[in-house]
Amino acid sequence: MKYTSTRDSALHVDASMAILTGIAPDGGLFVPEELPVCMPSEVYGLTYPQTAQKVLSLFLTDYDADFLKAATESVYSAENFGGKAGFVHPVANRLCALELWHGPTCAFKDYALQLMPRLLVQAKKNLRDESLTKILVATSGDTGKAALAGYAGLDGIQIAVFYPDSGTSEMQRLQMVTQEGENVAVYAVNGNFDDAQTGVKRVFADAAVTRLLAAQNAHLSSANSINWGRLVPQIVYYFYSYAQLVASGTVKDGETVDYCVPTGNFGDILAGYYAKRMGLPVGHLLCASNKNNVLTEFLRTGVYDANRKFYKTTSPSMDILVSSNLERLLYHVTNDAQRVRGWMEELARTGRYTVPAEVLGVMQETFLGGCAEDGQAAQTIAQYHKSCGYTMDPHTAVAFYVQAEHADTGRTTVVLSTASPYKFAGDVLAALGESVPTDIFAAVEALRIKTGLPVPQSLAELKTKKVRFTRTIDAADIAKAALSL
Ligand SMILES: *Cc1c(COP(=O)(O)O)cnc(C)c1O
Repeated sequence: MKYTSTRDSALHVDASMAILTGIAPDGGLFVPEELPVCMPSEVYGLTYPQTAQKVLSLFLTDYDADFLKAATESVYSAENFGGKAGFVHPVANRLCALELWHGPTCAFKDYALQLMPRLLVQAKKNLRDESLTKILVATSGDTGKAALAGYAGLDGIQIAVFYPDSGTSEMQRLQMVTQEGENVAVYAVNGNFDDAQTGVKRVFADAAVTRLLAAQNAHLSSANSINWGRLVPQIVYYFYSYAQLVASGTVKDGETVDYCVPTGNFGDILAGYYAKRMGLPVGHLLCASNKNNVLTEFLRTGVYDANRKFYKTTSPSMDILVSSNLERLLYHVTNDAQRVRGWMEELARTGRYTVPAEVLGVMQETFLGGCAEDGQAAQTIAQYHKSCGYTMDPHTAVAFYVQAEHADTGRTTVVLSTASPYKFAGDVLAALGESVPTDIFAAVEALRIKTGLPVPQSLAELKTKKVRFTRTIDAADIAKAALSL
């Protein structure tokens, strides 16, 4: 299987090259040239690692089968995902939550960020690349910890994470600064997330840094969600969840199921689109946004307009105005790199672009958009806790709110649940009408008493874990930090 660029159909590379380089030379994203077929019955009865192996082998054809087997078995092991990889939790009649937060950092990003580092190390082997890879990550919270946990201890890789000083939740900060491993570093950056992100981007574009690193046989790379290696592992749980619905008798073999996805950068939901194109009987993909509802408007009108106020919400991992992975969908519905390039150039120049009615129409056959404000998400948390005894985090609540607006189809719907409620214990407690203690561990304990949900070990142990990283730097010093890794 070859990969091409969303902006240049003349490009053809293997999966290893797509994963090692992350972004195409023309600025486009790597996409598979054709989509493999996989009928759901091909994964019935398989474990999660076996399902992963099956799906990945269809896309990563230049990777050794033994490698894929060993990697998926160790990454999606019962130990690493608490025996709940791809766990489907029935919530109400014809309504389930696909709980994707039983991994080491309690957010769905573990599915990709536990596996991708191994795909990267193997890509280097496949390409006989013996250089040192330095990963730089600017994070507003979830990605930083998930990346640290995924890259820690791997050969030939170093990782530095930069988070805005006082811009993350206390739980997220503690998760990062207690990270173990010799090849990791974590820095607080004076300023907000944009300052950290702009600082990191500047280092990537700095020719002097590239030269200095090249002299040490090293290069920079990112753990960004546009890397194909982060997207492909997410296709797996669509297949696995469908197989579980059939096994439990919730749906019949071949019956159409809708999926509703809390969306930020459009990666998670796009994986569902790939699953559908491969042969999984997916009906609608409901794209759920918070108050930053660029995608809702786009899927209703065909106008993508990022020139709008940016809101900070209780679902921070969805606070995004430019959803990078949408570019891949535009490519797959048009098959026209020239046109995609035109829209992306317009977006870069003016902050907006418009797709014509026929392109919008094709997207609307699969995608429906909806959005929820913080108050609506909080009400949703309270409502499902009361009526179904189910507790969810604010990101997942945005999706349950949007799902309810489209609940009249008679089809079974799976809502992707992307974070443990304990990662956002304060907001969840407040939504449930409880007072919120200022100490986060007291808030976690209050939520445990209120809901009876077990507290994930990895969050509970933060209370006594040693803080390893205490440095705060200016954004201008990120290059220095990267070079001194
Ligand atoms: C990253 C994230 C999302 C958004 O996923 P995308 O792939 O960026 O659309 C939703 N919820 C949580 C908890 C996340 O961490």
